[in-house]
Amino acid sequence: MTLAATRDAIFPRRRTAPPPPAFRHGRFALSILSDGALTLGGEILAPDAAPPARAALLARLGGDAAGAPVRMNLPLIRAGDELIAIDAGAGDAFQASAGRLARNLAAAGIDRRAVTRVILTHAHPDHVGGVIQPDGELLFPNADHHVGRVEWDFWTDPRFEERRPPALHGFARTAARALDAVAERLHLHAPGDEVVPGLRLLATPGHTPGHMSVELDGPEPLLLVGDACTHDVVFFENPGWRFGFDTDPDLALATRRRLLDRAAADRLLVLGCHWTRPLPGRVERRGAAYRLAPA
Ligand SMILES: [Zn+2]
Repeated sequence: MTLAATRDAIFPRRRTAPPPPAFRHGRFALSILSDGALTLGGEILAPDAAPPARAALLARLGGDAAGAPVRMNLPLIRAGDELIAIDAGAGDAFQASAGRLARNLAAAGIDRRAVTRVILTHAHPDHVGGVIQPDGELLFPNADHHVGRVEWDFWTDPRFEERRPPALHGFARTAARALDAVAERLHLHAPGDEVVPGLRLLATPGHTPGHMSVELDGPEPLLLVGDACTHDVVFFENPGWRFGFDTDPDLALATRRRLLDRAAADRLLVLGCHWTRPLPGRVERRGAAYRLAPA
């Protein structure tokens, strides 16, 4: 099937904007929607970088002293009768430059009411803030929502504010509100669970306690890693660096290394939410570091 035909199959309705990137993977047809962009400060993106290296890195990523822009790549997966969104974007819960998923779906000719499932990789505000739109409506009103049980337990702990640092309290309020809004259609998962045939959840903890990636069967597995590796350039080149928004930085680092080592060894296709290109690539080893090669 040509790329144009694939796009037409995924986006049958009238479009008002150029179609998002789209491709086939085994039985799945994917498109990568955008929720807009975020700006991440150097102390979040690369807290372990020495100041001169950090400034040079931010400049290379198109940023300045205040931070660097990062993308929001949100996969939408067609599998038979199912239309599955991975994460819901930020809504109005994070930065004003994000929260564009609803309008980008409409511009692509996709009816958000047709989405049957939403898999939440984790419950940070840029991933679940969009579950409830600024007007109070659900972004995907007809969808079952799926999240890891460990993730749900963490953010909905009634004693969260006693037990966790104040820096996380705002995140927890956003997470609990989003998860509560879909409670009647919320499925709590263990690692390895299959959501639809050929689509499994993979434990990738550390960024948050119950972070899950999505593994799709195909000619080779495709891993949608969410924020298990938050940035391709920064952490492929510096796999020993921590990320400022990781709940457990050391566990996150171990998870990321395990993921990248497996992806490199098995030549898997991989895409992260905030990576610089909205298409999967292949991970290659470069000495102690990695490189992302176009698929
Ligand atoms: Zn994120």
